[in-house]
Amino acid sequence: MEKLLVFVEAKGDEPRKATIELLSETRNLSDAGSFAVTAVGLGKISEHAIEKVLGYADRFVRITDGLLDDYTPEGYSEALAAYARQEDVRLVLGAATQAARDFLPRTAVLLGAGIASDVTAIGWADDPMTFVRPMYGGRVPSRCTFTGYPAVVSVRPNAFAVAPAGARRGEYVEWRAGVSPDRIKTRVLRVERESKGKIDLMEADSIVTGGRGMKAAENFALLEELAAALGGAVGASRSVVDAKWRDQDDQVGKSGKTVSPKLYIAAGLSGAIHHVMGMDTSGVILAINKDPNAIIFNYADYGIVGDVMEVVPAMTAELKKRTGR
Ligand SMILES: Cc1cc2nc3c(=O)[nH]c(=O)nc-3n(C[C@H](O)[C@H](O)[C@H](O)COP(=O)(O)OP(=O)(O)OC[C@H]3O[C@@H](n4cnc5c(N)ncnc54)[C@H](O)[C@@H]3O)c2cc1C
Repeated sequence: MEKLLVFVEAKGDEPRKATIELLSETRNLSDAGSFAVTAVGLGKISEHAIEKVLGYADRFVRITDGLLDDYTPEGYSEALAAYARQEDVRLVLGAATQAARDFLPRTAVLLGAGIASDVTAIGWADDPMTFVRPMYGGRVPSRCTFTGYPAVVSVRPNAFAVAPAGARRGEYVEWRAGVSPDRIKTRVLRVERESKGKIDLMEADSIVTGGRGMKAAENFALLEELAAALGGAVGASRSVVDAKWRDQDDQVGKSGKTVSPKLYIAAGLSGAIHHVMGMDTSGVILAINKDPNAIIFNYADYGIVGDVMEVVPAMTAELKKRTGR
C-alpha cells in the first residue's frame, strides 16, 4: 500500500486542530485501504498529544534528536526528509501553519520533490490526484497534479472537517534522526509563549478583523467583545499592525496569516487585495464599512453600511441576548 505521512504539530499539550483535520481526512483513506497513514511528530511532543493522534493514524512516529527540541527549519526539514526517504512515501502532508510554511518547502527540496502549498481541497480519487490551491490573490482556484512522487503538500487550516477519534489505536514508534549539527544555521535566542487561552487565528471558526476604521487601539475592545460572543478570535489589517494597535501575530493577509474560518467579519477595513488574499476562502464574509463603495463589499456575502462604533456593539448585544455568552 502507498504510504502517506502527516506532520503533527502541537500547541502546548494538544495537537493542533489543523493537524486533527488532516488526520480525520486521511483516516478515511486508510479505512478505504488506499494509503497507510503515518503521523510524524518531531522533537518534544506530549503523551497526551500522542494519545490523541493514535486515535486517527495507523502509526505515530516520534522522530527524536536533541537538535529537534527547539524548532529550526533546517533540523525539521532534514529529519522529516530523511524519514520520508527511508519509508519511500508517496505524499508528505502538513497543515499550512507558520512553521510548516517555513520548513515544508525545504523538505521538498531535500527530497527533490514537488510541493503544492496552501491547498484548500484534494481530489484523492482523481487520476492523477488533484490539489486545489488559490492563485492570483484567491481570484483563480488552480488545480495541480504532480508528474512524479514523492510530493509535499501543505493544507490550509479549516479545509477539512474534524471527525471524532475512532476506536483504533495506532502503533507508537520512535526513530532517531541523526541531524547533522553543522546543517543548523538558526540559533534560537528565546521563546515567547503567546497568552494562554487565546484562540489561534488560523484555526478559529469565526474571526472579527478590524481595520484602520477602528480609529484607535482601545476601540478593539469592541471587537474582542464581539469575538468573545461568537467564541472566535480577533484579527487586524496591516495598517492596524503598522500603527501598533495590535500585534503582528494578529495580522491577516499577504504578509500576515492566511485564514479560512466559517465566519469572517471585516470591520472598518477597505478590502485591499493584500488583505483579501489572506481571508477570501472564508465560509461567510460579513463586511461593515461606512463607505458603500468600499472594495470589501465585492468579496462579502453580507454587508452593513454603517459606523463600526455603532454596528459592532449592537451586534454584540443581540448575540449575547441570543446565545447567553
Ligand atoms: C507587499 C504588501 C503586503 C501587504 N500585506 C498586507 C497584509 O498582510 N494584510 C493587510 O491587511 N494589508 C497588507 N498590505 C497593505 C494593504 O495594501 C492595505 O494598505 C491595508 O490592508 C489597508 O488597511 P485597512 O483596510 O485597515 O485601511 P484603509 O485602507 O485605510 O481602510 C479603512 C477603511 O475603514 C473604513 N472606515 C473608516 N471609518 C469607519 C467607521 N467609523 N466605520 C466603518 N468603516 C470605517 C473606510 O471607509 C475604509 O474603507 C500589504 C501591502 C503591501 C504592499
